[in-house]
Amino acid sequence: PSYLPAADRYDQMKYRNCGKSGLKLPEISLGLWHNFGHNADLTLGRKILRRAFDLGICHFDLANNYGPPFGSAEENFGRILQKDFLPYRDELLISSKAGWDMWPGPYGNFGSRKYLIASCDQSLKRMGLDYVDVFYHHRPDPNTPMEETMGALDQLVRQGKALYVGISQYNAEDTAKAYGILKSLGTPLLIHQPRYSMLDRWVENGLMDILGEKGVGSIAFSPLEQGMLTDKYLKGIPADSRAAKDGRYLNAGKLAPEKLEMVSRLNDIALERGQTLAQMAIAWLLKDPRITSVLVGVSKPEQLDDNVTAIKNTEFSIEEASQIKTILGA
Ligand code: NDP
Repeated sequence: PSYLPAADRYDQMKYRNCGKSGLKLPEISLGLWHNFGHNADLTLGRKILRRAFDLGICHFDLANNYGPPFGSAEENFGRILQKDFLPYRDELLISSKAGWDMWPGPYGNFGSRKYLIASCDQSLKRMGLDYVDVFYHHRPDPNTPMEETMGALDQLVRQGKALYVGISQYNAEDTAKAYGILKSLGTPLLIHQPRYSMLDRWVENGLMDILGEKGVGSIAFSPLEQGMLTDKYLKGIPADSRAAKDGRYLNAGKLAPEKLEMVSRLNDIALERGQTLAQMAIAWLLKDPRITSVLVGVSKPEQLDDNVTAIKNTEFSIEEASQIKTILGA
């Protein structure tokens, strides 16, 4: 075989049960939103995936539209999977999603049964898989009855195309509703994937409470605010950073001086704790036991080494917590 994973790959990583389910997730998971499309260096992508698995990161998160172009991250992941990971399929937790713009016409977007079933079939083909471990509805769709969307997720499980189901970006109220519908169908809601970081704490306003109450797990996306919650932008925009290379979601305009001032103060606290800011930003999310996993992206294997070190210290003293609260303004 071309790749032999590290024999000690499960020794350092910690695993948490996903809500009340029997499924464990690594405290750090890897997302393929960026750096795996046809625009990316896939020799590097392959190194990133290998490094992740060697570090015990056995959960890879995808979606139908990751790329660019749409579908290409799944295609490229499928190729790397064939080369390196097929013998380890049962050690991997692979997720995909549908809910955003994917193909033209009325059936390639939002939340209909028609779209979700077709999209999951396409994702399986692109990745060369018989099933995904988790299939998500990627965002709420106010124009489709939730019964239909949840019914489609339930159908995918019954067809053997997904083992578990999740939702992403749903607010607290819609989450409670989705949970109830899925429960009545006999397919539990395994997990919610919300955006959550020190700089975006909307989930603290009800969603985390619902998830805790119902025993639904959670995986926080963009935990580093796409790189803003690291020390990389404190002295300008490095040429190899997301803000310089791919301005679709993070760009100079979003790196506002008042944000960077906040980041710089957080960086000082991280250094006092003996952590990098990336590590502290991840640790700060993991301090809540209702968070199952923190879903990072990386453009280099070294960033994974940095990020996984976060799990070594997820405790915050009362003083640190209150200093951080003051900086974040809450
Ligand atoms: P992050 O907030 O972790 O940002 C990742 C980027 O930050 C990297 O690509 C890298 O950018 C930089 N970075 C990461 N680690 C370090 C480090 N240690 N030091 C310095 N820079 C670092 O997450 P993403 O925004 O990438 O999202 C993660 C995943 O979440 C996605 O891949 C996807 O799976 C999921 N997601 C889900 C969404 C949903 O709607 N459900 C929406 C968005 C994301 P660079 O080096 O290029 O500057």
